[in-house]
Amino acid sequence: MTLASIRQAPKAVLHDHLDGGLRPATVLELAAECGYEQLPAHDAESLGQWFRDAADSGSLERYLETFAHTVAVMQTPEGLRRVARECAQDLAADGVVYAEVRFAPEQHLERGLSLDEVVEHTLAGFTEGAEQAAADGTPIRVICLLTAMRHAARSLEIAELAVRFRDRGVGGFDIAGAEAGYPPSRHLDAFEYMRANCAHVTIHAGEAFGLPSIHEAVAFCGCDRLGHGVRITDDIFDSETEPRLGLVANYVRDMRIPLELCPSSNVQTGAVPSLEKHPFDLLARLRFRVTVNTDNRLMSDTDMSREMLKLVETFDYGWSDLERFTINAMKSAFIPFPERLRIIDEVIKPGYAVLIG
Ligand SMILES: [Zn+2]
Repeated sequence: MTLASIRQAPKAVLHDHLDGGLRPATVLELAAECGYEQLPAHDAESLGQWFRDAADSGSLERYLETFAHTVAVMQTPEGLRRVARECAQDLAADGVVYAEVRFAPEQHLERGLSLDEVVEHTLAGFTEGAEQAAADGTPIRVICLLTAMRHAARSLEIAELAVRFRDRGVGGFDIAGAEAGYPPSRHLDAFEYMRANCAHVTIHAGEAFGLPSIHEAVAFCGCDRLGHGVRITDDIFDSETEPRLGLVANYVRDMRIPLELCPSSNVQTGAVPSLEKHPFDLLARLRFRVTVNTDNRLMSDTDMSREMLKLVETFDYGWSDLERFTINAMKSAFIPFPERLRIIDEVIKPGYAVLIG
């Protein structure tokens, strides 16, 4: 199994941030177009390196600064459209056949766009990118998730926006941002609104903060999926010998609540100490519904194929494991059940059958 062969395999990503996946050259060009002069580097190679170094620095301040630059060039119709278009094309070129890409509309209002306009331009970009990818022979289905920032107070408004656009390419709602001090229950009204409208919710929880955050996300907020959720291991005891699950871990496993695990990102943010110590394999063996994700492709210098290759090298996985993780993701997707089944039966299974031989 090589990077090239894994690229051929059909993949599904549920956790990928639009503002974390720009091409460095695009950041430079959009900055020139919109007159943004605060970029820390002035050619694509050194800018790409700067993003990676900042993400690797171990400093949360520097890590967050990276998003200030990407978000700054995504404030215009052209900027949003281009970033979304290239996102769909880049994912498709990596062999991703189904993607849920998330972003926070409230962060893109600096130059006068309304929330609805921000979503419209972004969706138009995804549609263009998917059309181009299909023409290139790498078809992809992309939907968008709308994120509210957990330190802010616009979550209900964003949930309403997600429901308003539900039939036009928005699949669900998420909250993200600093976890400590901003528990998910702070946004209960937004989650209740989503539930009242039979709409989907995922919550960043159990990444920077531990079990209480996961407990609130599943028990109070009723999330359909957990963004990261790696700290569910705080509720798994004797994992080296005979693992025992606490109440929350049992519930997450019993209810088949998917874990959107992001191996490289989880190491970079310090959620886990190293790839070797990542609980991905423990959780997979305990039959949690684990999925593989990219989080921020630019900052982590990664894509789905590289994330999968890292797991193959670390845990000795084979094609049938990658197929299982991909089907896990597809089963957990925020699109209607028949469409999930179609992608599993017509795209994923035949794709892996060829590779398994
Ligand atoms: Zn994330």
